[in-house]
Order: sequence, then structure tokens, then C-alpha cells
Amino acid sequence: MGKGTDERGLGDDILAGLNTPQREAVLANDGPLLVLAGAGSGKTRVITRKVAWLVRQEGYRPWEILAVTFTNKAAAEMRERCRQLLGDAAEDLWLGTFHRIGVRVLRQHGPLVGVDPHFGIYDQADQRAMLGRCIEELGLSTSAVDAKTMQGFIDRAKQRGFGPDELGRHERLGASDPRLAVFRRYEMRMREAKALDFGDLLSLPLRIVREHALVASEYKQRWRYILVDEFQDTNHVQYEFLKAVLGDERRICVVGDDDQSIYRWRGAEVANILGFAEDFEGARVVRLEQNYRSSANILSVAGSLIARNTGRHDKTLWTERDGGPPVRVHAAATDQAEADYVVRRIHDLRVEHPLREIAIFYRTHAQSRVFEDALRRARVPYVVVGGLRFYERAEVKDVLAYLRAAVNPADAIALERIINTPTRGIGAKTVEAIRHDALDRQTSFWEACRHMSTAGTNAQQKKLRPFVALMERLMALAAEASALQVVGAVLDETRMVAHLKADGSPEAEARVENIKELANAISEHAQSTGDARLEGFLEQVALVAAVDNAELGSDAVVMMSAHNAKGLEYDVVFVTGLEDGLFPHFNSAEEEGGTEEERRLAYVACTRARHVLHLTYAELRRRFGTTLPTMVSPFLRDLPAGAIREDDAGRHVTRFHDGFAPRVAPRPVRRPAAAPQPEPSFTHAMPDYESFSQDEVRLGPGSRVFHPSFGEGTVAELSGAGSEAILRVRFAAGLEKRILARYLTPA
Ligand code: ATP
Ligand code: MG
Repeated sequence: MGKGTDERGLGDDILAGLNTPQREAVLANDGPLLVLAGAGSGKTRVITRKVAWLVRQEGYRPWEILAVTFTNKAAAEMRERCRQLLGDAAEDLWLGTFHRIGVRVLRQHGPLVGVDPHFGIYDQADQRAMLGRCIEELGLSTSAVDAKTMQGFIDRAKQRGFGPDELGRHERLGASDPRLAVFRRYEMRMREAKALDFGDLLSLPLRIVREHALVASEYKQRWRYILVDEFQDTNHVQYEFLKAVLGDERRICVVGDDDQSIYRWRGAEVANILGFAEDFEGARVVRLEQNYRSSANILSVAGSLIARNTGRHDKTLWTERDGGPPVRVHAAATDQAEADYVVRRIHDLRVEHPLREIAIFYRTHAQSRVFEDALRRARVPYVVVGGLRFYERAEVKDVLAYLRAAVNPADAIALERIINTPTRGIGAKTVEAIRHDALDRQTSFWEACRHMSTAGTNAQQKKLRPFVALMERLMALAAEASALQVVGAVLDETRMVAHLKADGSPEAEARVENIKELANAISEHAQSTGDARLEGFLEQVALVAAVDNAELGSDAVVMMSAHNAKGLEYDVVFVTGLEDGLFPHFNSAEEEGGTEEERRLAYVACTRARHVLHLTYAELRRRFGTTLPTMVSPFLRDLPAGAIREDDAGRHVTRFHDGFAPRVAPRPVRRPAAAPQPEPSFTHAMPDYESFSQDEVRLGPGSRVFHPSFGEGTVAELSGAGSEAILRVRFAAGLEKRILARYLTPA
């Protein structure tokens, strides 16, 4: 890109559609800058325009700019907007989440802190599996230390940049503290597996730049300008990293809103934003006060909600927009009635708003199930963001484990996952023997597999040899072939698809579909990034955050937890489950400032709405398997009377009404006896909805049913019972399918 003024033009297009303070923020480029402003005031817009301004008007080269956002989705959107203003140059920006930047730093300089540059990334489940193994190895299985608590313990330590030794010193933990022993063993085993967890992706880059002045100065020179969105949710190590790579000219711009800090439970420190002006002497502070997103009524409700928090910086937020429709507060009789109400409203609202502009937010993922059921019944398409995570499905993880082990034979967790998947007669005893061999001979799980395939008992040798040979072929292939070729070889050699097809069940069919989808994802990734290597793909998979799973663009109602809604905006928003103990969540009551954090979360949720906002709650809710009366959320008290409409007329209608669309009486419905419920456990942070009982409608041959993809059909045959019942259904045009009963509704 040329730097001459002629080619740069005046940059009017970059400044167009910015108000005076926004413009000031875009143009202030000579030192630290903080934009501290409320929701919807154009902070993200400022960041994007500033990036364009720096490149086009001030002659920065794209790779001299580091722009950090909170989710991959936000990063993708920002890149797209930059592309509109910068063209292909946008590709060369350093733009991404802290985790992604961390990966890039570690691939370049990992060896400085003992990290193999070809490391793999463990997700939470892998991390827990590894911890379980360490706890077992140390003989602590019967003590109070369990994998889940250890995971929290280690994550918190890493958020503060502590390894086991620093943590021990800092917290004055005794040398015999079992948690430190597990932490140490875990670090050692992860190192051996050439694996990093999410905490490492942030804390290790910090160690690198702190301990290696040369590397720090390399980044200081490279990143001449640093920009950070959603700065209120940065944690200690993220902030320290930024400070360590910031050049002497201190060209940094951070934007955020202390009222939207909602990740304190993950170590975010709102002090980072509140203390920024002190940390960076002479920092310029710009405040934006005009909200461009929401109607006046929505803003007034959100404003009075957040005003009740103490210890906040008061902010003014005004809008030129008119009041808009009042915010509706709806009391439903039950959680099902709440969902029915939402679906009815969607039915009315979709006339004016496309479905993808309608969002349902809830506090816990578990709540999505009731909404999903109601939307399916009403035949409204929807996507759940962060619910079903594609890459966490068992069959997908199986294939991924083959791929991971093929590029990284040290990955013990991946190897253990696939050593007997599909079954090849390698039982738990043999796996145990391999582990012992690895421990005895101080070698990796993989080396132990190889060793046992020639030195184990005859039976062990016989079973292990083909597995070892298979993995050796895949490893050799991974070194030279593309990701797509490797996945092809995995599927051919393991005959995984054939195994599933032989099973013939509908779940198996879905699994085959998922595996095919994985192959699609690989080829898409290769196309869009030009990177056909397996390593590149695996990195991408590991970094895709929960919020990125929505199939954007499809016209469907969007559902997600309030946490995932940050930074987004929709025409119509339903904030649901506003009950005491649910939203605010009861866990928050125990923590200092917990309720205030929940209130900020509710504020984030409400301020996503442009035109229509609904706040709903249920008077009876099924939680942990029992139905209990609820208390209305304190957040709904004292809302500004002029801006809301209390609307509980619906509940009398919905109380005994099950379902949305009026329809002819369904066939006789018999509810199966309730399955025994597990004891409610209040130690878990969030209930998962798999543990909820589902009232299955029993369908039999001859019943008319509806399926969201195939439409209406007639049941030809039934096998199994309860939620696992499978029906053979004849749909229109002679299409016949075997389908799990829970995916069907009576037509
Ligand atoms: P949040 O706090 O939720 O992250 P934000 O401060 O980042 O919000 P943006 O998302 O940048 O706000 O802007 C909110 C909406 O207002 C967007 O749709 C944006 O395009 C629009 N907007 C921002 N500034 C202006 C402006 N000066 N004129 C018109 N529209 C604007
Ligand atoms: Mg924003």
C-alpha cells in the first residue's frame, strides 16, 4: 500500500458516521488512550475505524497493529469491517483473541520456556482426563482432591501467572499439600504430552516476554500500536502481557465498560480498566455518552437496573431514538408456559423482524431445553450458541484424537482415547500395563505401546502390534500429507464409518454425519486459510470458542447464555428466567460482590436489544428434577414504571395449556413413570440439562409425527422405550427414516 497522500485520500469514509468524541478517539494516536463508555455507544466501532485510520492515514503497516478482542466471532467481524475499509491489507493485521495471539507467540518462541513448538491444545475434558490420571498416579484418588476442583485450582493459579512453586510460596501452602503435588505432576505430564491448556496460552507468553528481553523488544518493535476491545474483562496475565510488549511510545488504545465486567469468576480484573489512567500517566480518557443501539425505553430499564450497583462509575447514556415499545415484563405460570409465551411473541414479531434478529438469553445452558422443545413444536427454526459443541461430540473427538496423536505421538490422552476405539481387544488391563511400563522406564505412553508390542505377553503383543503399525503409518503420513489426506486415511484404516453404519441406529447415522462434517470443516479450513496442514487445523479447532458455533446467516432464532451475548446486538431480545436464585444465580450469593456481577450480566443482556425487550420469569420451575415455586428476581424490582408494561395476562391462558399451536387433540398420551432422579447436587456450578428428566410423549405405530427437517410422517414401527425409543417413520415422498423419539413431536 502506498503512503502518498494522494493514494491515501482524506479518509473521510473512515470518519463518516462518527460523532465528535468518537472522532477524537480515532484521531488520538500519540499515546495511551482509554475509551470508557456504556453499552452501545460505539466503542467497537471506534476500534475498527481506528485500525483503518492507522493503516490508511498514518502509514502503519498492517502487521504493526495488534488488535485484541474477546471472542473469535468478534475478531472475525472486526476483520470483515476492516476489510471493507482496507481491502486485502486487513489479512495482515495481528487481530484475534488473547488465546490466539498467545498461540502465535508460543509457536515462535515456545522453546524458551520449554514448550515444543508443535504443541497440541487440551480442552477442558482432556485437561480433566489428564488430572484424573495424575491423581491416580499419586495414589490420591480417595482423598478430597478430585479432577474438577483441581482444574479450578490450576486455572486460577495460571490466571495469576503462578506455577506450583510460586503458588505454594504465595499462598503459603505446606510442602505436603496434595494439590501442589497434583499441580506439579500435571505440569510434568502435560509437558511430556507436548500439550498446553488454555491457561498456558496466556501465562506462558507472559513468561517469555518477561524473562527474555530480546523477545520482548522484538514485539515492542513489531507491534507499534495495540488496541483492546472489552478491556474490562482482561485478567492479570493478559494485562501484564500487554504492558510487557508495549513499546516506549506507549501507543495503546483500550475500550470497555466497567458495568459490563462479567468474567470475574474467570479471573477478570475490573481494576485494570478503572486503574488504566493511573497506570499510564498522561493517558487520554474519552467518554462516549450517546447510545446508538437501543430505544429509549430499553435504555431506561437497563440504566435503572445497573444504577443499583454500588461502587460503579456513574455514566450518562442517552439516545436520540424515540421510546419505542415498552419493555414487557411477563410472569408465566411455569417454565414451560414461559417458553410458550416467548414462542407466541416470536410468532407475532417475526412479521417485522427476521428470525436471526431475535435472541433468547438465559442464565444457565440448562434452560435452553424447554425453549428448544417449544420452538420445535411451533416449527420455528433456531440455533443454540455454545450448547451442543460440535467438536466435543464423542465421535468427532475420536477422529480428532487420531489426528492429534498422528502429529504429536507424545499426546498420551489422545492415544489412550483411541487405543481401543473402534474396539480392537485392547482392554483396561493392557492399558494399565502400558502406563506402568511408561512409568517404570520413564518414557512416553507411545514409546511404552511400542515396547509392549514386542516385549509384552504374547496376547498383548498380538493386540498391540496392529495398533502400533497403524499409528506409525498415520504418523508418517501426517508428516507429509495434507490434513484431508490424513483424515481420509484414519477413516479408511479404522473403518470407523463402516462400524457405525453396521450399527444402523439413528444415533449412528447422526455420528456418521458428524464425521463427514468434520471432513468438510477440514477442507473449508484449508480453503479459507490456505493452510492445508493438519497442525493448523487442529489449532483452529482448539481455539474455536463456544460462542462461535452458531451458523450465522441462517434465518433462525438465536439462543445463548447471557455470558455469550457480550458485544452482540439484536432487534428483539428475551431475557428469561428472571428469578431469585436463577438470575441472579444462587452461586453468586456466596461470593463477595457476586450479586453485583450478576446485575452487570443482566445489564449486558438487556443492552443487546435494539427495538424490543422482554423480561420473563416463571412462578414454578423444574430444577434438579423437581418443580418448585420461585421468587421473582430482585432485578425486576423498581423498574421505571413509564418504560415497562407488566404483562401477566398470558399466564392464566397458558397455565394448563401445553404447547403453542392450537391443534387437534393428540393421540392418547401416556407419560412413562418418572425415572429416579439423582440427588440434587449444589456443589456444581451449573446444572446440565442431561440430568433433567424429560417427559417423553409415547408414540406408537400409526401416530402422526413431526420432525423439524423431514416434516410430517406416520410411525411404522417402534422399538425401545423412554428417551431412547426409536421410531421408524414414513415421511412424504416415500422417505423412510429411523429416528429417536425425542426428536419427534406429535403432529
Ligand atoms: P457494547 O458495549 O455492547 O460492546 P459498543 O460500545 O461497542 O457496545 P458498538 O457495537 O460499536 O457499541 O455500536 C453499537 C451500535 O451503534 C452499532 O450498531 C453501531 O454500528 C452503531 N453506531 C455506533 N456509533 C454510531 C454513530 N456515530 N452513528 C450511527 N450509528 C452508530
Ligand atoms: Mg463493543
